Amino acid sequence: MQVSIINSDEGLFKVTSAKDESKFYEVQLDPRVATCTCPHFKLRCARAGLECKHISQVRSILVDVNNENNCFDTGICNNGG
Ligand SMILES: [Zn+2]
Repeated sequence: MQVSIINSDEGLFKVTSAKDESKFYEVQLDPRVATCTCPHFKLRCARAGLECKHISQVRSILVDVNNENNCFDTGICNNGG
């Protein structure tokens, strides 16, 4: 399962299927609600107000990105070594 950015301004991401890497789903991270194009999300998660594994995967990537930004803000990385 790999995440790549389609359009970061619009919160659009592409996540490859864990079962079949030739397949991928589009995840839209809206400030209020996240959506995914996978069948599981459409059939189950959307109704229940839950997030599928693709959305949580994108979120975990974003946490890493944010950590990097924090790192640059504090200047710790630049001084490292
Ligand atoms: Zn999904």
